[in-house]
Amino acid sequence: MLATLKGLVTTLAWAFRKPVTAQYPKQHLPIQPRYMGFPALLWDDTAGEPFCTGCMVCVRECPTQCMKAEMKDNPLQQEGKSHRRKIIERFEINWNRCILCGICVEVCNFDAIEMSHVHELGGYARAGSRVTLQELLKYGREFQERSGWKPSNPEKNVAGVALAKEKEKRQPAAAASRSEPASSNPSPGKES
Ligand code: SF4
Ligand code: SF4
Repeated sequence: MLATLKGLVTTLAWAFRKPVTAQYPKQHLPIQPRYMGFPALLWDDTAGEPFCTGCMVCVRECPTQCMKAEMKDNPLQQEGKSHRRKIIERFEINWNRCILCGICVEVCNFDAIEMSHVHELGGYARAGSRVTLQELLKYGREFQERSGWKPSNPEKNVAGVALAKEKEKRQPAAAASRSEPASSNPSPGKES
């Protein structure tokens, strides 16, 4: 009898709890910050260009070979606005073939790619999920803004920080080279 009553109480308690399930697709549960959606490219605001140099490391390491990249000389580097000598010109990921493994993010040395929160990819076209450079950058920017993304190596990869560091390094060297002739060739008046 007691056991029956206990069972009834438990059933009643559960009957009034909020459901943990959601009526998808009408209702969406919030995405957790560490959620791994499809990979997207990130934007360096300090130079106004992508972080991606088109080095092809991710393209070579991708297990499903769903990425393509082409690089070009970086005009902003020639103008002194960026430290990247090469910059991405064309990039494509076929999200239909992506298995969300995250290897492209792991191997990138330039903080240029991240697993974004994009995850809903319904479509009818076989090649409808080939995503271009501009689209990848758009998804990447959305991800950066929403997640408060920070680069892992700003001194190497953020143009504003890297250029300031290069300038800092050059200043003592330039000061030393200016003072060198005076000390190696002392004035005759001082010698006597
Ligand atoms: S995302 Fe990274 S690894 Fe891939 S091409 Fe760009 S810089 Fe290279
Ligand atoms: S997540 Fe994996 S499969 Fe998808 S593009 Fe990156 S390396 Fe390729």
